[in-house]
Amino acid sequence: MNVSVGLLEGLPFLEVELLGGFVDPSGAQLGPGRVRLDSETTLSPLDPATASFAIDSVTIGIGFHWERKERQVFRGALRLLRRESGLTVVNDVPLEEYVTSVVSSEMSATCPPELLKAHAVISRSWLKGPAARAVVPPPPSASGELLRWYGREAHADFEVCADDHCQRYQGLTKAISPAAAEAVRATAGEMLLYGGEVCDARFSKCCGGLTEQYATAWDDAEVPYLVSFPDGLEGPAPADLEAFLRDSPAAFCNTADTALLARILPGFDQETRDFYRWTVTYGAGELGGLVAARLGVDLGPIAALEPLARGPSGRIFRLRITGERGDVVVGKELEIRRALSRSHLYSSAFVVDREPGSAGETRFVLRGAGWGHGVGLCQIGAAVMAERGFGYRAILAHYYPGTSVGAVPLPEREITGPLDLDARSLRLLETHSILNVLNVVVLRIGDVGDLVGDAVTADALMARVRAGHAALDDPERTVAALAKTREVRDAVLAWIAAAGEGRTGPLREELDLHAANLASAFDVLATRAAELGRRAPGSEPWVGRALAEVRENLSEAFRAIERNALGRWRIAAGAGDRGPDAYLIEFDLSSRDGKTLALPAVLEDVVRDLAANARKYTAPGGALRVTLAEDGDGLLLRVSDTGRGIPEEEIEEVVRFGRRGRPDGRNQLGGGYGLTKACHVARAFGGRVWIRSAPGAGTTVTIRIPHPAG
Ligand SMILES: [Zn+2]
Ligand SMILES: [Zn+2]
Repeated sequence: MNVSVGLLEGLPFLEVELLGGFVDPSGAQLGPGRVRLDSETTLSPLDPATASFAIDSVTIGIGFHWERKERQVFRGALRLLRRESGLTVVNDVPLEEYVTSVVSSEMSATCPPELLKAHAVISRSWLKGPAARAVVPPPPSASGELLRWYGREAHADFEVCADDHCQRYQGLTKAISPAAAEAVRATAGEMLLYGGEVCDARFSKCCGGLTEQYATAWDDAEVPYLVSFPDGLEGPAPADLEAFLRDSPAAFCNTADTALLARILPGFDQETRDFYRWTVTYGAGELGGLVAARLGVDLGPIAALEPLARGPSGRIFRLRITGERGDVVVGKELEIRRALSRSHLYSSAFVVDREPGSAGETRFVLRGAGWGHGVGLCQIGAAVMAERGFGYRAILAHYYPGTSVGAVPLPEREITGPLDLDARSLRLLETHSILNVLNVVVLRIGDVGDLVGDAVTADALMARVRAGHAALDDPERTVAALAKTREVRDAVLAWIAAAGEGRTGPLREELDLHAANLASAFDVLATRAAELGRRAPGSEPWVGRALAEVRENLSEAFRAIERNALGRWRIAAGAGDRGPDAYLIEFDLSSRDGKTLALPAVLEDVVRDLAANARKYTAPGGALRVTLAEDGDGLLLRVSDTGRGIPEEEIEEVVRFGRRGRPDGRNQLGGGYGLTKACHVARAFGGRVWIRSAPGAGTTVTIRIPHPAG
């Protein structure tokens, strides 16, 4: 799932530095390097995990009201739209990356981890839920009342802007806090759901002991999970709201833990401690001046403040202000807070006491509770809950009653279309993974040749590997040709060892890395050759394989892929090791007897290809899970990832043979034959294939193959 973020508007052209390769819709490749763009286009990264783009002069603030220019770096696709005012620059960024950036910049890294997780879920829901879309404008004011509320105006060409108007977003420019990154990863894809729909996850700083319902702050709609309830008060909700506001009962958000407050509120100072219960005092004249300045209504010195309607938390949403020259009714809660303060009153949950002031002037004492609108999650209460050991799910369930936390349920789609495979494409399906390994070997031998300045030996060795390529068209010769790569392996490793002899430092390290990588690639070739041998014409299609062997085979394949990445990413050692450069890869293998699994011999190839594909289309930091299990119905193979996902309209198409990635890079699984082969093999054994995927929400491929009859 992507988020479209508006970066700039009204440009005559855009100068951008591509840090990595990109493709435009015509399939032309651009970058790395600087380009000048002056028309509509979409540049998609060839490798979304590593490519980024930099804009030198991002004026922070769409509409240019904030003149600060700085170089900012973004990941994802760069999209230019032509509008009357000029070019609009949009960044299509994976949802998870966007949320990481936002949680990093909006939440202090020292927050309790469960609070950060709750915010990651809220941030995703805020982006994809109803709040980001619908703004109900206030009705024209009836009977002279100033009833107003404020929603976020929607943007026409993108979901959010990069400015404070929506959420401040600076791509990769701002340091990502590891704590925020971990919170986002631990809650990957999770949103707040109610009845299968993404929730409007509102929050404020402190409810004051009772949370508020939606309609007190915005339009008169009833939102079933934005309702009022006690925030950890003892006993039921108080019947006398005025007495409740004058009292200071124990609640989650009634905390004097200044150390905790300093950890959760950026820029918190000790003066801001009185948010649970607070007092503000105004003289009648001073208040009249405020009302005139803030509302544009000159009532003269104020004579009375009269709450006409309160929400269940005590927040006033209709307030009559009477002055010497007239009166006005103001609402809803934000407008009341705006009218009665130079900035914003903490909340509209207050009682009014009148006292005699100096020189006979009346003084108004506002005794209030809470900070903000009080609807939904109470940030300070949630922080206290997290400190007391509540998990983020419990915290969210408390503040949004009736909701659940989960991924937006995606439909699972069965792949039923024709594959249209001829003999040649079938042969390619059989051998493409060997071809890939041979290609890697040739490429890396070339690298070593460049490194040590020995093109002659490199060319000779590459020629010997290419002989293996040539044999792949012919099933008879393939296995024999692959057997010969054993000798090439020894020659290659001896060559590298000789070149490295007596050398130290970075060159030697690089050579050692290449040697390990090439040795690993040759091992994979040997394994593939053995598999091809087992699948030779006339042999049993089903084989019994030890679970441990299947697991080792998969692990070996991933170790080889990891080595070939030459340090760009790594495989995490376990669930606790989740650095931003590490993939968590889990193999869940089981059989009926716990030892041996019966499977079509070719299926191991399928598992490996699907898993390698899943890795390729998942950014480092993501997770992969491979399930291979035997049950009463047969074999279940499931490969799921937390990667880029596939747009729904392309799911059926990506399994077609030779389907390449779309030029705009939106197609996730193109360019490989993994899915085509998986479908072909499943069908050949009477099985079925399903894909569950959506952009940004990852992909799950499920294959079921019945046990062979008899
Ligand atoms: Zn905006
Ligand atoms: Zn609270």
